[in-house]
Amino acid sequence: MKKIMILLSVFILSISIIGCEDKENTDDKEKQNQQKQEENNTSKDEEQNKDDESDEKENTKSYLEKTITTNASGENVVTNPNDILVIANKERNLPSDYEPSDLVAPDIPFVFKDSPVRFMREVAASNIEKLFAAGNDAGFKFYGRSGYRSYDIQKSLFDRYVDAKGEEAANKSSARAGQSEHQTGLTMDVTSQIVDLQLTESYGDTPDGMWLAENAHKFGFIIRYPKGKESVTGYSYEPWHIRYVGIDTAKKIYDLNITLEEYFRDHY
Ligand SMILES: [Zn+2]
Repeated sequence: MKKIMILLSVFILSISIIGCEDKENTDDKEKQNQQKQEENNTSKDEEQNKDDESDEKENTKSYLEKTITTNASGENVVTNPNDILVIANKERNLPSDYEPSDLVAPDIPFVFKDSPVRFMREVAASNIEKLFAAGNDAGFKFYGRSGYRSYDIQKSLFDRYVDAKGEEAANKSSARAGQSEHQTGLTMDVTSQIVDLQLTESYGDTPDGMWLAENAHKFGFIIRYPKGKESVTGYSYEPWHIRYVGIDTAKKIYDLNITLEEYFRDHY
C-alpha cells in the first residue's frame, strides 16, 4: 500500500510539473528535492521488504539449516559446536579449531589409565559417572575407552586407518577430522570385560551392552549409531559409542527408537 501511495504521488508530481512548464525554472529545485525524497522513501521501503522476506526465510529454516555455514573450501561447518544438541556427521563438520572449554576427566574406570582421551565436557562427565554407578548397582562394570579427541588427534587416527585398511573402510568405521563426535566432548566409547575391553559389534548382544542400550537415556545418553541406521547416520553399528544429548532429548530418542538425525528431521 505504501508503495502504491509513493508511486501515485510521484505520478501526480510529474503531471503537475508537465502542466507548469512556464514555472519550470522556479520550480526546478523544488522538483529535484521532492524527487530525491521520493526515491529515498522508495529504496527504504524496498529494503524493509527485503528484510521482511529474509526474516521469513530464516523462520521457516529448520534447526539444522540454521546451524550451518559454508567455509572457504566449500565444506559445511556447524555454527553451534558448543550446543549439547550439536550434530557433527559426514555432512556437518566441526570447526577445526573447536575445543570445548570445560573438559574434565570423569571419575570412572578407564581401559587405559591416564589416557589422553579420557576427557568429556562437564555435563557429560557428571552424567556418565551416574550412568556407570547405576550400572554398578545392576552388577555391571563399565570402562571408558575414548572420550574427547581433538581435531588433530582425529586426523592422525583417520590417516592411520586409511593406511591400514584403505579409504573406503576408513570412511565407514572411522571419521575424518572435524566429522567425529568425539571432538564435541559429549561422547564416550564404553566397553566391559565381557568383550575383553574391546570395541566390537557383538557388545550389543552381551548383557552389558544390552543394559547400556536400555538405560543410557535415563542419564542423557543415546546409542548414537544404532543397528540398521547406517544409511541415516553414515556409520556402522556402534553399540559402544554413547553420546550425551540431555535427559529429555535422550528419552524422546529412546522412546521413538530413532537416531539423532531423525530426531531433528522429524521431531524437533
Ligand atoms: Zn566413538
